[in-house]
Amino acid sequence: MSDKAVLVAKNLNHIYKDLNQTKLIAVTKYSPVDEIVMAYLAGHKDFGENKVQDLKEKSHQMIELGFQDVHWHFIGHLQTNKVKDLLKIPNLVAIHSIDSIKLLEELLKRKVELDHTVEIFLQVNTSDEEEKSGFDSIEDLITATKMLENDSKYHLTGLMTIGKIRTENFEVDARNCFQKLISIKDEVESKTNLKKLKLSMGMSQDYKIAIEMGSDFVRIGSLIFNQSF
Ligand SMILES: *Cc1c(COP(=O)(O)O)cnc(C)c1O
Repeated sequence: MSDKAVLVAKNLNHIYKDLNQTKLIAVTKYSPVDEIVMAYLAGHKDFGENKVQDLKEKSHQMIELGFQDVHWHFIGHLQTNKVKDLLKIPNLVAIHSIDSIKLLEELLKRKVELDHTVEIFLQVNTSDEEEKSGFDSIEDLITATKMLENDSKYHLTGLMTIGKIRTENFEVDARNCFQKLISIKDEVESKTNLKKLKLSMGMSQDYKIAIEMGSDFVRIGSLIFNQSF
């Protein structure tokens, strides 16, 4: 095993120990396929990418290498003109970043491309940072849940957020963002007949806080592939 493969396996193990019930999505947006293979061979199956083209290439390369059972999560900002390509990716299991009604309409319009069910997370902007995408009203979130009700191809799994990026005190701000997502989840559940929406929150720098606050999914990249504990 190469030094890098040992590092990736060690980093994964370190994070697994913190997880409890939370699931880890290994974010590979800065990783070439050989690093994805290292994590796969260490036993990891759930990976996240933030660009449709990269996901498409990496997904096909993994299949060509004989690794058929990878679960891909799309986590980036999705442009409407890329939806069709995204839905054609064979082992796409979830989209964490549906950030507007308009995008959701496109997704529904294009669902003939899908031959399997895909889990949907609605992204919420909890930090009020302008460049950050995401729903910012409960009304729109409820509209979105109605649009997905009893859909044959999409399953509304939960809500996603990203902690504040520009911050002097990331711990306090991460906690605030995550608490806001939890409150929004409670409000959406109380105003619809949805129960047990899941939470996708927490990245390398704030994943421990997210786990402590009950996140169902953490999305971690740099801590697995680009450094040692
Ligand atoms: C890049 C990215 C991550 C992972 O970030 P790290 O800091 O490398 O762990 C998680 N979620 C989203 C939406 C991302 O774009």
